[in-house]
Amino acid sequence: MASFQGKTVLVLGGSRGIGAAIVRRFAADGAAVTFTYAGSREAAERLAAETGSTAVVADSADRNAVIARVRDSGPLDVLVVNAGVGAFGDPLEQDPDAVDRLIRVNVAAPYHASVEAARRMPEGGRIIVIGSTNGDRIPFPGLSAYAMSKSALQGMARGLARDFGPRGITVNIVQPGPIDTDLNPADGPMKEIQHAVMAIKRHGRPEDVAGMVAWLSGPEASFVTGAMHTIDGGFAA
Ligand code: NDP
Repeated sequence: MASFQGKTVLVLGGSRGIGAAIVRRFAADGAAVTFTYAGSREAAERLAAETGSTAVVADSADRNAVIARVRDSGPLDVLVVNAGVGAFGDPLEQDPDAVDRLIRVNVAAPYHASVEAARRMPEGGRIIVIGSTNGDRIPFPGLSAYAMSKSALQGMARGLARDFGPRGITVNIVQPGPIDTDLNPADGPMKEIQHAVMAIKRHGRPEDVAGMVAWLSGPEASFVTGAMHTIDGGFAA
């Protein structure tokens, strides 16, 4: 297990679910962790008290707020962009404002945050964005906008890996499948349809994803960049 003692880590979207597991993991491994939240103030304050991390409010739909938060938290050794939202359903019926907001949170924020972080990131820096297995596979209807946003991250990571690689900064996407969180509860209405297409027919745990993020952030992963890392129980197999 890598130690992150002396490392500065920012997690965008850390108050709940996968983000909270990532905050817990880095804090347990010794990093100085700051995380953002938008709506879940109580959960954020509880997590900050539990882990000794710092919680700050910053809405990922607001480009200027994201850039300011990254700038004010730096120089960062590790940036993790976890904040993401869904906008599921029939594209013919969807609210276009909800789709535009999804693009701001799921695509624009990761891009602007990554670029801002890279301005002052030292050699060995790590940029990790939480995508989705739906970036590769969309086995049922109603996922178009969400899948579009997660596929966009793939091109971003490949491009930024080239831009920042000469400085020893890696850029990677972690692509979870069904993970038991508020967004996708293990006992939720999507359970059967999701498990039907999986090799391992259960939801994963937020801690599983945090473990992959920790490995990508550590010294063993210094040669890994511009790549997608799927952790989905075989959803996309
Ligand atoms: P949750 O809805 O359980 O948690 C989302 C987290 O992101 C919360 O901490 C939330 O903070 C934060 N967040 C959401 N919108 C914003 C915003 N506008 N500004 C700042 N923070 C925000 O989601 P998950 O933990 O399940 O998902 C985390 C990531 O993993 C997302 O990118 C999601 O797309 C991806 N993912 C999840 C899968 C799953 O099955 N759970 C599968 C594949 C990918 P707050 O409550 O304070 O607003």
